[in-house]
Amino acid sequence: MKRFLVLAALITIGAVSITMAAFQERASQGLPAKALAATQIEKVKDNLYMITGADPTDRDAFSGGNTGVFITNNGVVVVDTKLAGWGQVILDKIKTVTDKPVVTIINTHTHGDHTGSNEAFTGNMEFVAQENTKANMEKMDAFKGDKAKFLPKKTFKDKMSLGSGKDRIDLYYFGRGHTNGDAWIVYPAIRVMQTGDMFAWKDAPTLDRANGGSGLEYAQTVGKALATIKDVDTLIVGHSPLRKPAELQEYQRFMTDFAAAVRAANKAGKSVDDATASIDLSPKYPGYKHDRYKAAIQAIYDELKAVTN
Ligand SMILES: [Zn+2]
Repeated sequence: MKRFLVLAALITIGAVSITMAAFQERASQGLPAKALAATQIEKVKDNLYMITGADPTDRDAFSGGNTGVFITNNGVVVVDTKLAGWGQVILDKIKTVTDKPVVTIINTHTHGDHTGSNEAFTGNMEFVAQENTKANMEKMDAFKGDKAKFLPKKTFKDKMSLGSGKDRIDLYYFGRGHTNGDAWIVYPAIRVMQTGDMFAWKDAPTLDRANGGSGLEYAQTVGKALATIKDVDTLIVGHSPLRKPAELQEYQRFMTDFAAAVRAANKAGKSVDDATASIDLSPKYPGYKHDRYKAAIQAIYDELKAVTN
């Protein structure tokens, strides 16, 4: 009995030190402890999980956009791979909920906080994205040379489905907004939609004009998504907690009002700074922040200039 206890104690110590070693290895790879703490796997519904990534305003707590983890019969589908260096953490988190291998990676759009750890997913892996996103990713240094194998091979223009029955995933493209290649991912059997950064947070969006983004078309694109995808009750969004479809409807109204206010300020000859100081939709949209107005207003000013020239 005593011998058994000693053996059990040794095994326990061994397991603890392996965990510690794994933790220290990660720490030595430079992943901030705060970001590791913010990166948790949460059950969304049935066979769908979300690996969180916190808010990008605190870079020490940031690991990237929210990651979808969908467990199908044939393996695990991962939607968005966070910043570079987070692949092993994603794999470790997935291991806590399933033994199945990852077989498919979907990138909602080109940004490095959603595509950064594609290269951690080796082997017989299928990479999927909207066709404009593939073109945007091809321009990134992170996918040059032998890293090109982590680029999407399977692409779509407007709509595509993967899998069948309860495992089916529908991918849609509804037009420009955050970039020109944002995919909307629907898990129809469990009534969940993943919006990527088309709905990242309750504030002005990032408008990436270099990758085809548009503040003027944004609300229309969200409207198309709302008109087409009616049978969902839960949203995994880009960089904040789970939301409801009514909150996406509100975001569409916010973006309609925001673009109209920026157009009016531009027409009145206001500078970007003056427009940023005078436009505040928070009273009409409780819980919304005013942290990201300036960059979005600048982007829409640039877009209006390009339209009139
Ligand atoms: Zn983004």
